[in-house]
Amino acid sequence: MTWRIVLLGPPGAGKGTHAKILSERYGIPHISTGDLLRSQIQSGTALGKRAKTFIDNGRLVPDDLVVEMVKDRLGEPDVRAGYILDGFPRTVEQAKALDEMLKENKAPLNLVLEFDTSEAVIINRLSGRRTCARCNANYHVRNIPPKREGICDQCGSPLVQRKDDQPETIRKRLEVYERQTAPLIEFYKQRQLLRAVNGDLEVKPLQEELAQHF
Ligand code: ADP
Ligand code: ZN
Repeated sequence: MTWRIVLLGPPGAGKGTHAKILSERYGIPHISTGDLLRSQIQSGTALGKRAKTFIDNGRLVPDDLVVEMVKDRLGEPDVRAGYILDGFPRTVEQAKALDEMLKENKAPLNLVLEFDTSEAVIINRLSGRRTCARCNANYHVRNIPPKREGICDQCGSPLVQRKDDQPETIRKRLEVYERQTAPLIEFYKQRQLLRAVNGDLEVKPLQEELAQHF
């Protein structure tokens, strides 16, 4: 079975954490548009420069920019084994563009996992989240603390709070999710690809719930 999966859900639902685990378990790449955009910003590319203001303000980067970036990524050879898309698509426009790309390759999606998550849990997770500026690993000050405070377990770099994880921006991102991304739940339901899981669960029980869909 070649898994071509989309993870859908609000920021803070745990998509990134679970994508990493699933990616290792099934040996397929984890493609996070948030990570791809942040690395474009770090490298100072033209795309990164255009994306930065949108991201810092909790808004979505324009569809055409993100779609181009994903198209390039899905053209790479490792994707033939399947993939986990995390943070894309985020608008109905993007979902339609993805459909078109995959139609051309005759390799449709076979699963969309919706992380159904309550607002209280989201706010707690995002406000406590700390991220490694170097390798993108995520921690949480209480739930998933690093071994040494403020230092990444994996690469020893300092942990930072993402600008878009500040309380004001969190609220904005949740609004944007409801308005622009939540309609995708219906979109994929109609295509019979959608399976919902409980995003409020801790990492281990949620992994067990996810495993039932593979
Ligand atoms: P989270 O899932 O916690 O919101 P991400 O790392 O997935 O964090 O995304 C961070 C930001 O990057 C988003 O708020 C948005 O500005 C931008 N972004 C990521 N993916 C997309 C996308 N598919 N379309 C538009 N903007 C995106
Ligand atoms: Zn690191």
